[in-house]
Amino acid sequence: MADLEIRGLTKIFPGGMRALDGLDLQIQDGEFFALLGPSGCGKTTLLRSIAGLETPNSGEIHIGGRDVTRLPPAARDVAMVFQDYALYPHMTVADNIAYPLKVRRVGRKERREAAESVGRSLQIQGAMLDRRPGQLSGGQQQRVALARAIAYRPHVFLFDEPLSNLDARLRLEARTFLKQLQRELGVTTVYVTHDQAEALALADRMAVMDQGRIRQLDTPSNCFLRPANTFVAAFIGSTPMNLLPATVQEGTFEVAGQKVMIPEAIRAKVSVGDTVILGVRPEYVSVSPTELPGSLTGTVRVLENLGVDSLVTVEVGDLRVQATVPEERVPAVGDRIWLAPDQRRLLAYRQDDGEQVGAPKVAQSDAPALVPGAE
Ligand code: ATP
Repeated sequence: MADLEIRGLTKIFPGGMRALDGLDLQIQDGEFFALLGPSGCGKTTLLRSIAGLETPNSGEIHIGGRDVTRLPPAARDVAMVFQDYALYPHMTVADNIAYPLKVRRVGRKERREAAESVGRSLQIQGAMLDRRPGQLSGGQQQRVALARAIAYRPHVFLFDEPLSNLDARLRLEARTFLKQLQRELGVTTVYVTHDQAEALALADRMAVMDQGRIRQLDTPSNCFLRPANTFVAAFIGSTPMNLLPATVQEGTFEVAGQKVMIPEAIRAKVSVGDTVILGVRPEYVSVSPTELPGSLTGTVRVLENLGVDSLVTVEVGDLRVQATVPEERVPAVGDRIWLAPDQRRLLAYRQDDGEQVGAPKVAQSDAPALVPGAE
């Protein structure tokens, strides 16, 4: 049985915005689960519904096998950590951490001991415990908010972009720390973020959401390597996936008037004359100054330094194809080069609904937009 189960959850805000659209989701015990998607896709509404801060129009929420749909937040056994930490400014750090215990009428001495013990595991100790939140750095405040959630000893942690107020370096440190902590505590965790790198790094599984629905529910690795549709393909990856219109011919795809071999795994799923969208990540396109078998040729238009690699944008007919290239092989702007997609990493999507070729068809009226922002 799932530890957290969402069944057919729909939330329509006054004014008609359908923030959640019949959503189903099962999260396993101890799992670190990320909700990812563009702004406005419904992530926070889903998290707040689990917490009991929003009332769904229909559907059910079960936590640890218990139907909590109609229970108030305090009866749900969840602890939420917000983006702005939401600490009580007039209370000391120790009182903030131990507040959930005060609500449960635990005595003062035990509360102090709990604050010291949980605080220690998060490097909040000594004089820091007696300061007010306003006297702490952002990173320290974030740890206090986490400590408060841990002191609550909830069944489920709900995190709403808890790292987004930290600067880039601190954010990376906090990410590693958070993952380790979650593993040690083994508490089922739902983590909302619009930062795909954060979701990929932290989650055991993740849901990529769009317009109140889940577009892919999978491991981070599958969402990155095998996006189920062009929406996820375009949303995930620090360099966006190449999405190239193509026509199926005998044994080849025609792309911008040139030919790319059809990978074995795709051959049986397409027919001559089909129009598809080919997907390949820039990381899986090899670049050569001389002709490669089954490759596309074009002219280098833009070079962008990514640190270890460079991102090369190549004009292929009327399309633009991007590839990442190691330092020693970077071509010059204006060079003619050849681009060979890795056959094992080449994906094909249907042009009409953006799902992978071979996937079951969704009813046309239900099919969401093909790529983020495209409507
Ligand atoms: P972000 O990453 O920007 O926080 P999100 O994915 O968390 O976005 P939600 O905050 O869940 O998105 O919002 C989903 C949709 O519901 C949005 O279109 C939003 O404008 C709308 N919405 C959210 N809260 C309310 C509300 N209280 N009243 C009306 N509409 C709302």
